[in-house]
Amino acid sequence: MTTMFFILWGVLLGAAAVLVSTLDWAVHSPRFSQYRLRTPAASYTGPPRKRLNVGLNNVLALLIFIAFFYHFGADTLYPGWPGTAHFVGETLAVLLLYDCVYYFYHRAMHHPKVMKFVHGMHHKVRFPTAGESVYLNPLEQIGALLILLGATMLLGPVSEMSFLAIFFIYSSVNIIVHSNLVLPHPAFRLFNFWVQKHDTHHDTFRYNYASIFPFWDQAFGTFK
Ligand SMILES: [Zn+2]
Ligand SMILES: [Zn+2]
Repeated sequence: MTTMFFILWGVLLGAAAVLVSTLDWAVHSPRFSQYRLRTPAASYTGPPRKRLNVGLNNVLALLIFIAFFYHFGADTLYPGWPGTAHFVGETLAVLLLYDCVYYFYHRAMHHPKVMKFVHGMHHKVRFPTAGESVYLNPLEQIGALLILLGATMLLGPVSEMSFLAIFFIYSSVNIIVHSNLVLPHPAFRLFNFWVQKHDTHHDTFRYNYASIFPFWDQAFGTFK
């Protein structure tokens, strides 16, 4: 694996941190209050405990990625620019497979027993904000990352650039869907769509299980 890959991956980690901070600041700022989908409710658990959970989940995710790079990076990720068609094809294929498996994973987590012991932690916050996007039981975080990295290994090898795009889309969509902001400009149409769909999921506990592509929910009758 190349040094450039790790530099760019570091840049994307920084970008994700900036995205979380910016969206969380905006949703709590009076200046953006008119764009809130919901008024953020008082926290279910106190901020220190929540911060600890989010921090540990981020560390856990980093460790899982580093272990993946160390053990499987050389066989799964190849260096160099693969050409536009390969780049788009690899990125879309991995994200589509990931999101399809994630759909069933997320749906299974809504089984009452799994909900009680695992996924319920994420739904404790009825209407989360970006900072709560990884407020999760660590088991849920491990499962989601295994699906993402498993899809990459199954369809790979993919180029390092494709993997960076996959990582960027995976992480920023998860942050965006929890932003609780709807921005009145056509440029944010996709952003707003994701936010509203995931808000419905948190509101109803039974629709919009897929994280990126709506058609998995459309195909299985859970789109709303
Ligand atoms: Zn859920
Ligand atoms: Zn959520």
